[in-house]
Amino acid sequence: MRLGSTTRCLHICRSIEEFRKYRKALGVKTLGFVPTMGALHDGHISLVKKAKEECDIVAASIFVNPTQFGPHEDLDKYPRTLERDLHMLTLAQVDCVFVPDDNKVMYDDKPLVRVEPPAFSAIFEGVARPDFFRGVATIVCKLFNIITPTHAYFGQKDISQCILIKRMVHDLNFPIHIRVCETLRATDGLALSSRNAYLMAHERERASILYKALNASKIYIENAKSEVTRQAIIQECERVLRSEELVTHIEYISVASSWDMVELDSIGPHGQGCVISSALHIGSVRLIDNLLVGRAADLIYDST
Ligand code: AMP
Repeated sequence: MRLGSTTRCLHICRSIEEFRKYRKALGVKTLGFVPTMGALHDGHISLVKKAKEECDIVAASIFVNPTQFGPHEDLDKYPRTLERDLHMLTLAQVDCVFVPDDNKVMYDDKPLVRVEPPAFSAIFEGVARPDFFRGVATIVCKLFNIITPTHAYFGQKDISQCILIKRMVHDLNFPIHIRVCETLRATDGLALSSRNAYLMAHERERASILYKALNASKIYIENAKSEVTRQAIIQECERVLRSEELVTHIEYISVASSWDMVELDSIGPHGQGCVISSALHIGSVRLIDNLLVGRAADLIYDST
């Protein structure tokens, strides 16, 4: 199916076979891939723009992956805005979008084989969402095998996902360049996210507290002349978060390595830097964000 004006069309593939046919006809061109769960916003489109700068052809996917949601999570509630998403992808001049018709296209039977994620599944997103990393690694692996991109684009906003995918590609020798793109933010600093739509107006006004707290920790590290402990960095972040009464629950604050997400005891001025990340709840809405400190940025933005 094709959508768009006569000059620029978005090719829509609903099945794996359809996409493979499309891909085969392209030949050996560079293909940039942007996987998404839909409910698109400018953050997603920033990945598309980067892909368009670097690749001959850009393909996106829209699939709300059930295996990365926990039993009590918002799978049914997750926003689905397909018509609008297709319109945005058309405007962004994406060449092709893979939209599996239903879950059976991606999971046709009870699969026996999955991609087993590293130990950091027991921390970060993995604590609240035990199957999250396995679900992400497996679906991205499947999508890579279907789309066969030369380049794939992920947002720094989901930093643990970026590190997981970079490591999967590195450890399992996928011939794909992974590009991590900076988090697109609203003017007050709040990272754009499909879940921001759930925030009530008064919650939205205060939601930038997460960015402010992470920034305070980053500045704390950068201003220190010598080594600072992980505990002190976390305290600084927590101090700012606690100043906002709408923050109902702090799930975690992490100071970790950008290579494997292992928690670091301290950060020195000449060391490997770190990823400071946090997840919290404002009312019923879960928000995540992170900032990179020092040389951690070099490793993250470096293309695998
Ligand atoms: P999702 O649809 O939430 O799975 O996101 C699809 C991709 O868009 C992921 O690589 C996200 O990290 C990325 N993304 C989401 N929000 C942003 C943002 N604010 N800035 C940049 N990339 C983003």
